[in-house]
Amino acid sequence: MPLHLYNTLSGKIEEFQPLTDNTVRMYNCGPTVYDFAHIGNFRTFIAIDILRRWLRVSGYGLKHVMNITDVDDRIIANSAKLGIGVQEYTAKFEKLFMEDAAILNIERPEQIARATEHMDEMADFIDRLVKQGIAYKTEDGSYYFAIAKFPEYGKLSKKDLAQIKDGARVDSDRFDKEEARDFALWKAPKPGEAFWETKIGPGRPGWHIECSTMSMKYLGDTFDIHAGGEDLIFPHHENEIAQSEGLTHKPFAKRWVHVRFLLIESDKMSKSLGNFHTLRDLVLLGHKPSSIRFLLSSVPYRKQLNFTFDGLIQAANEIDRLRNFKLRLETSRFPEGQNDDVVRMADIAMAGIDSGMNEDLNTAQARAAIFDMVRDANAAADMETVRKNDIPHLLEALKKFDAIFDVLNDTDGEKIKSIVDWAKAEGKEISPEALELAKSAALTDAQIEELVAKHSSARKAKDFKTSDDIRNQLAEQGVILENTKDGVRWKRK
Ligand SMILES: [Zn+2]
Repeated sequence: MPLHLYNTLSGKIEEFQPLTDNTVRMYNCGPTVYDFAHIGNFRTFIAIDILRRWLRVSGYGLKHVMNITDVDDRIIANSAKLGIGVQEYTAKFEKLFMEDAAILNIERPEQIARATEHMDEMADFIDRLVKQGIAYKTEDGSYYFAIAKFPEYGKLSKKDLAQIKDGARVDSDRFDKEEARDFALWKAPKPGEAFWETKIGPGRPGWHIECSTMSMKYLGDTFDIHAGGEDLIFPHHENEIAQSEGLTHKPFAKRWVHVRFLLIESDKMSKSLGNFHTLRDLVLLGHKPSSIRFLLSSVPYRKQLNFTFDGLIQAANEIDRLRNFKLRLETSRFPEGQNDDVVRMADIAMAGIDSGMNEDLNTAQARAAIFDMVRDANAAADMETVRKNDIPHLLEALKKFDAIFDVLNDTDGEKIKSIVDWAKAEGKEISPEALELAKSAALTDAQIEELVAKHSSARKAKDFKTSDDIRNQLAEQGVILENTKDGVRWKRK
């Protein structure tokens, strides 16, 4: 079965097929770099990451563009308050965002596009809208989109916009009105504000024109997928469609993928409730990046996800189970031969991942499939019925799973250490748990292997003092040794 994806525009689940050749052209709205991204933002970015990974696993090439909104009202206000330039202000938060995304194993899109580097293209886009008679300039030098001139306005959000007010304008990029109003394409500078000089005059772009301009520049007038958080459907994405289709008279994005919001401990996330977590907050409390990624991908993207601290601990345990299983396969000695029952466990898991992910990216089903395999194969290994030739099949299923979820490779220690080092430099509070987890990053895998080898030869020589000393030293640095009948294996805490 090929991939089926829900399309907000049609309101239906549709079979996915790229428009041209084998490359998927997709765009997603990136961060506004005026503050730290929170884990609600990262649920969206991880869902989009999983989409792009699944497209690749399915054999497609990718051309994926994400914008960085590095100019907007909040950025202009905040940078002015600090008395620094817009660029200086946003550079810090862009860097933090990119670091956070990398820590969560979110792949970097093929193209990152900054708004401030596309001012001329945006001005040109607006100029063409004015020439078509669907945008107009106001006395102060700002430009607005005349939504009454775009009869399909509202087709994405399905809002009843019967009361379109001709000429009624709204300045804010993020309005929450049922009533449709003309929105700003370009804002003339107020005294003392940062602005850019362009062919349509001085000012700065509205948020919506940014995404229309940059997506079409890199992906063409019509492309495969436009993705973002569900909060962007109206007005942001509705306005993108109006601008782009108003200009080209061609369909803009063929499919719209929207990721549902998350709850925190069953509450809406908000600054006033004090449950506004960033990745760094959670890591400094002693949670691993892999647990956070795994929890954020646990529920299919169109369902509400309830983010809880219990859920984080459960995610950590689940990852342990997967990593321990992989370690067992790689370090145990199995008798020659093949057990078809075990090979079948791997085949069933792979088929479960395929059918789950192809059904509108049902990550919960893909996870259930792999955990069933781990449970059954562990039971078979306990009964000593697993054979040597079964191992590549089981590893193959794990590999397929991890091509999407990306939690098996243990890089938590070094990532936690990087955040702990940052927190020290910033004078932030660090929990003892986070400090403990950061310790295991002090040793490389090769250094650990060397100590483990010394430990083993000391044991063989019955030099138990030396072997115990090494074991204690490793434990002190966050590495656990396990003696098995097939020798010693190690893992990070
Ligand atoms: Zn956007």
